[in-house]
Amino acid sequence: MTETLVDATTHARIAGLGARVLSGGAVAREEALWLFKLEDSGDIFDLLSWANRIREKFKGNKIHLCSIVNAKAGACSENCNFCAQSSFYQTGSPKYGFVDPEPVQEAADEANRNTVTAVGLVAAWKGLNEGPMLDEVCDRVRELKASGKTRPDVSLGIIKNQKVADRLKEAGVECYGHNLESSRRFFPTTCTTHTYDDRLETIGYLKKAGIKICSGGIIGMGETREDRCDLAFSLKEIGANVVPVNILNPIPGTPFEKNEPLPVLEILKTIACFRFILPRQEIMIAGGRTVNLRDAQSMIFMAGASALMVGNYLTTLNQPVEKDLQMLKDLGLDPNWDSHGFSDQEETGCGCGKENSETEMATAK
Ligand code: SF4
Repeated sequence: MTETLVDATTHARIAGLGARVLSGGAVAREEALWLFKLEDSGDIFDLLSWANRIREKFKGNKIHLCSIVNAKAGACSENCNFCAQSSFYQTGSPKYGFVDPEPVQEAADEANRNTVTAVGLVAAWKGLNEGPMLDEVCDRVRELKASGKTRPDVSLGIIKNQKVADRLKEAGVECYGHNLESSRRFFPTTCTTHTYDDRLETIGYLKKAGIKICSGGIIGMGETREDRCDLAFSLKEIGANVVPVNILNPIPGTPFEKNEPLPVLEILKTIACFRFILPRQEIMIAGGRTVNLRDAQSMIFMAGASALMVGNYLTTLNQPVEKDLQMLKDLGLDPNWDSHGFSDQEETGCGCGKENSETEMATAK
């Protein structure tokens, strides 16, 4: 009988990197890029299995659930090429002014019923300055916090002033959503009405105010694997606490409407690579999950995801929350998330990975 020789080189290299991250070490950019470039499905499943172990080691079986309220819809002054709410594109997406208290309380009630940790108020505008609108935003945040039902989060665009961030913190904002979207290199392909540095500057103000950072990006916009890799290292460098991975759902009328969907294995591999680079962060699968992953949705956890956006997205539908909760139950995962202010992300010893990252925050200071 002839023995089949097995080339274990790739298998062993993935295992070596996985074991290093499990023991508190970090992957370098070139090592991570090699993971992003894996093509063979057997190798990708190897990678997923290590990403799953890393998730279990650093996050246990807890899954952090978030939901969002479209707190001000449509007619946005910005030209983000993926977005249904930009005034630059005809998409038929709804338009309305800043939300009243009732819909926010209803969202909090629903989140509470479904073990959802946070409700985020998301506004379609460039950003927020001092003035009556900031007062109104702070009122909604205070009401949400007073209800005691969920963690009040917001995503309100660009901030150009420390006082705005400080006032949001005083009102009770715990976590602010502000994606880097992609790599610095690819960002101008997604938007030209504001810059990557505007986003970094905003994150700098928020961190100084003591607000936790929810920042990630969108994959499937035409970016390269290098861009995805650089995004993950930039998120590590800015100290993002929650990292939303959105998968482009091409909206008719937007410049990205004809983008080809990413293959499912490419999406799962990207999530796994993010888990290797960001072992302690909440990696949250957000927009585009249902439409892009279909029957493979439950595999996001094996790929290393530890958080889920549930309920409908800003302008598109998601599967019912009940179905997501059943999926978690079937996998032995627990939505009763409580990491005491993200204290589980504190690192001890080596493993910061700073030596491997772009020096993004230098421009943010
Ligand atoms: S992503 Fe945000 S800033 Fe960009 S167009 Fe949409 S609502 Fe406006």
